[in-house]
Amino acid sequence: MDLDLDWLLNTDYSQPWNFLIIFSILLVGIFLRYLILAWLYHELIYKKLGNSKPYRRLHEQIKLPQVKREIWYSFLGAIIFSIMGTVLLICWQRGFTQLYTALTAWDLIWIPMSFFLALFIHETYYYWLHRWMHRTKVLRHFHHIHHNSLYTSSFTSFSFHPIEAFLQAIFLPVLVLFLPLHFSVLLGLLVTMSITAVINHAGVEVYASSSLQSPLARWMVGATHHDMHHLKYRCNYGLYFTFWDVWMRTEDAGFEKRFLAHTSKKKS
Ligand SMILES: [Zn+2]
Ligand SMILES: [Zn+2]
Repeated sequence: MDLDLDWLLNTDYSQPWNFLIIFSILLVGIFLRYLILAWLYHELIYKKLGNSKPYRRLHEQIKLPQVKREIWYSFLGAIIFSIMGTVLLICWQRGFTQLYTALTAWDLIWIPMSFFLALFIHETYYYWLHRWMHRTKVLRHFHHIHHNSLYTSSFTSFSFHPIEAFLQAIFLPVLVLFLPLHFSVLLGLLVTMSITAVINHAGVEVYASSSLQSPLARWMVGATHHDMHHLKYRCNYGLYFTFWDVWMRTEDAGFEKRFLAHTSKKKS
């Protein structure tokens, strides 16, 4: 069963009017996705789960002026992501990318394999980009916008300076120039990026304390892990996974202790 996306690819998006229409649709979609996901996660997880299990909260609820600033920068970021999304679409219809929709037997293996390979490449790109963004000049120039949120919330998840948003948004369009990806994998990656960014910034730990003993879950960045990056700056640079931090010895030594404190009910 092939995915029929001819209706999407039959319009020439390089024509200014068509460019504007698809850009506007993407902008509304990307920005609403951010607002709805961040709001739902804050209401259901930070507030509801946090009320029943207060030890899971990493800090107090952040103030409204910070949320407003984060929403503004997320809107600017959504503009950048929408432009890159439109560029990707144009590259795809011109045959420059390795995106495909027709399924073969090989896809039974390649779809999951390419998904995890893309995550690994993204992790590697982001970890080193992030290390570079913490050089004093670069930090002062643009990465500080994300770090203005010392205490984070789900609304921080997309709040970047437009230059940083561009450096993030360029990843998938460049990746699909080289790596054959089924369209569903592209969508899966976008969903994974959105959800993990919210989980990691929401200020409430949702993973089980037993994750530290799990051979797979131990390598996931979670809220506690990324919260320590915002608090201390010079540690825990990972995006989805912690292995680069472990390999390069940039994981904070107090991470496991703090993780356990926020995942286990305190004995009274
Ligand atoms: Zn940083
Ligand atoms: Zn962050």
